[in-house]
Amino acid sequence: MSASRMIAIKDVTKIFHPGTPAQSRALNGVTFDVAPNELLILKGPSGSGKSTLLSLIAALMKPTSGEVVVDGTRVSKLPEEFAALYRRRTIGFVFQKFNLIPTLSAVENVMTPLFPEKIPEAELEAKALGVMEEFSIAHKRNAKTSNLSGGEQQRVAIARALVNDPPILLADEPTANLDAALSRQFLGFIERIKGEGKTIIVATHDPLFFDLSFCDRQIELHDGSIVAEEP
Ligand code: ADP
Repeated sequence: MSASRMIAIKDVTKIFHPGTPAQSRALNGVTFDVAPNELLILKGPSGSGKSTLLSLIAALMKPTSGEVVVDGTRVSKLPEEFAALYRRRTIGFVFQKFNLIPTLSAVENVMTPLFPEKIPEAELEAKALGVMEEFSIAHKRNAKTSNLSGGEQQRVAIARALVNDPPILLADEPTANLDAALSRQFLGFIERIKGEGKTIIVATHDPLFFDLSFCDRQIELHDGSIVAEEP
């Protein structure tokens, strides 16, 4: 793949439950590219297809038609055993509700993406703590995540997303459960992660993201189609 394209979305359509009364067309012939180290904001109202698009890029589901190519791999055609490896190596995902495992400690949550790698546990833990330090949350290493504040859970979630050093970070409504101060702090994290060379897509309808000096592009979806793109 040319150096100017980290992600290529080619005429992607996603229909859930096709041919049944529950049929739902989530994406409708969507095409765009994302360059390496680009920060792309994906906006649009609830139900416009943002989460579906992120899930397709993460190979969590397959498109009904069209292609998703990431860093030279046609992920829309990957069998599941390869998709899991692809996700682990290539994608960090931050979810709206953080999706931490409440019964595990903070450091164990950050370590989970590393478990399939054949590395001694002490090394895994050191690696996890290193990333937690970057996000000033290492002091909470032994706390159960159910006992952490929203802002602390957010830092653990970001550390978990980045512990494998993936080239791509996807975030789905990452500030929906955060107050204004924590949302601004999240923007600071995004700016720093972009500075480290990552390619980042944030799906959001939070206006805080719409006027960022370090954002490269915004794409707006409505009913599964791109209705605006700037610049
Ligand atoms: P957004 O992230 O912009 O809120 P989504 O991608 O979640 O939008 O949803 C796009 C459309 O696809 C919506 O109409 C939604 O109801 C539908 N949809 C999403 N996931 C599923 C699913 N697993 N089964 C059926 N319909 C779904």
